[in-house]
Amino acid sequence: MIMNDIHHILIVEDEEKLAQLAADYLLNAGFSTDILSEGDAVVAWVKQQSPDLILLDLMLPGRDGLTLCRDIRSFSSVPIIMVTARVEEIDRLLGLEMGADDYMCKPYSPREMVARVKAVLRRLQPQASQTLDTDNISLDADRFRVLAAGREIELTAVEFLLLQTLHRRPGHIFSRSTLMDLMYQDQRIVSDRTIDSHIKKLRRKLHELLPNYELIHSVYGAGYRFEPLPNTPA
Ligand code: CA
Repeated sequence: MIMNDIHHILIVEDEEKLAQLAADYLLNAGFSTDILSEGDAVVAWVKQQSPDLILLDLMLPGRDGLTLCRDIRSFSSVPIIMVTARVEEIDRLLGLEMGADDYMCKPYSPREMVARVKAVLRRLQPQASQTLDTDNISLDADRFRVLAAGREIELTAVEFLLLQTLHRRPGHIFSRSTLMDLMYQDQRIVSDRTIDSHIKKLRRKLHELLPNYELIHSVYGAGYRFEPLPNTPA
């Protein structure tokens, strides 16, 4: 990713060692960071400093991450990656639609955290990724086909609908139950309720089309999301 400005990341985390570790890795990756270790100071800080992204722990002394996320969303669309200690929590958080951009579970690998931060920032550079997205993949809804790299591949109706749903909101995490509900709004579809197996087949087909990319990511404990192609020259 080419960055003209150094992105400033706010780490909200009350475990001092973990906060420091995250800061070290982000610094190494070319970001600048600040750490806040309790919840009550966060809103004022964000208003004043306008960070480029927030890593937000859920359980905090003072105001908790959930409340903070809602408070921040009332005045800012700054990207937020929510950090929770329990993977089961992620599904509940998704259901609350609190507006976080991604979720991570502790203990996380600092390397993966940095990759997530970069992915969220890349996704939110609107022009670049949207153009590439439509340039590189297009969906033909009349024939249930997906076109990429000058080739096309045929999908089943269910696969197509899944891809279309994920593709419409790049980066958004859809839980299995949300995907299921969306499938069922469409009367043409289907008796088979196993989202996972459809996703698996869909991924295999997309992989034939674009062997070097993983377009559909599974988010552990949460669901699936569509990740646009990275910013590489065609
Ligand atoms: Ca905590």
